[in-house]
Amino acid sequence: MLDIKVTKTETPKQKPKKGEPLGFGKIFTDHMFIMDYTNGKGWHDARIEPFHNLSLSPAAMVFHYGQEMFEGLKAYVGKDGGIYTFRPDMNAKRTNNTNKRLCIPELPEEYFIEAIKALVTVEKDWVPADEGTSLYIRPFIIATDEYLGVKPSDTYKFMVILSPSGAYYESGINPVGIWIEDEYVRAVKGGMGFAKTGGNYACSLAGQVKAHDDGYSQVLWLDGVERKYIEEVGAMNIFFKINGKIVTPELSGSILPGVTRDSVITLCKSWGMEVEERKISIDEVAKAYKEGKLEEVFGTGTAAVISPVGKLRWQDDVMVINDNKIGEISQKIYDTVTGIQLGKKEDIFGWRYKISD
Ligand SMILES: *Cc1c(COP(=O)(O)O)cnc(C)c1O
Repeated sequence: MLDIKVTKTETPKQKPKKGEPLGFGKIFTDHMFIMDYTNGKGWHDARIEPFHNLSLSPAAMVFHYGQEMFEGLKAYVGKDGGIYTFRPDMNAKRTNNTNKRLCIPELPEEYFIEAIKALVTVEKDWVPADEGTSLYIRPFIIATDEYLGVKPSDTYKFMVILSPSGAYYESGINPVGIWIEDEYVRAVKGGMGFAKTGGNYACSLAGQVKAHDDGYSQVLWLDGVERKYIEEVGAMNIFFKINGKIVTPELSGSILPGVTRDSVITLCKSWGMEVEERKISIDEVAKAYKEGKLEEVFGTGTAAVISPVGKLRWQDDVMVINDNKIGEISQKIYDTVTGIQLGKKEDIFGWRYKISD
């Protein structure tokens, strides 16, 4: 067990009122978790402190070469009033896959989970209870050596911050418009596309700005070599329902292995659906569309769970999917995953994780 020293704030903030719009990632709770890493000593000094600004050397390595990682998960109030999260073991494992790629020292999985459990328990009154809202959990690690040479840092900070966030769908689940990017690429095999790290996001901004300027909310990335195979959307994995079958890009090394992606595959298989994880080209998608076989398209990620795609813009063509409405399977997956998360549906896979009563 981690020995976590807790220092409570003397000036708690005003919590958002019931029904108040929260947005995403704008409000932070009263406390944060911090733990340091020093080469030779390992991870040490786990503590929960009042939420505060950091003091770092301007030469701290994270500012210059981007050696950092992050994770994202959510906590919610279950039907029984307890506080729950979803498959945190998957995030703990993924943390270490990311760390390995970025030469960040391994973080024991139990530290990751204990840190979240302790911090969310201290902040449990911040978990919003309105329908669809949640407490977004952002664990992250930064390189802190004061040094401008290029090498892995000898010191790090692992931190967790929390942000009460609003219902992703404030006016029901509305399909999004997606721009298929043919100029920029996000990641290549051998790069760090499978890692949850800021650099991948920095790289995605130019495409995102272009898509926004054209009225599309997100970018769908193609593979970086042939610009032919579908990879993923900004912060979501992507699924297609073609002629009754579920198809999603295989984990090739350049896409992020989403926890939601894994859950969706498991659920669809358990319902007897055919699920294919394989290469899927944009031409195959366009052809299926022309033949009337492209039945549903949806993104998957922790924030929205399921994000139906209503429009796909590819060069000069726009495909309108399922009449720009949420599809039957998308809705069923959304209802099942959120039902399991909130304790309204039976948790047959043991995905729900209790944080506190
Ligand atoms: C986090 C993330 C996802 C979704 O992963 P989940 O574990 O389902 O939240 C997909 N793509 C990218 C690039 C991501 O960073």
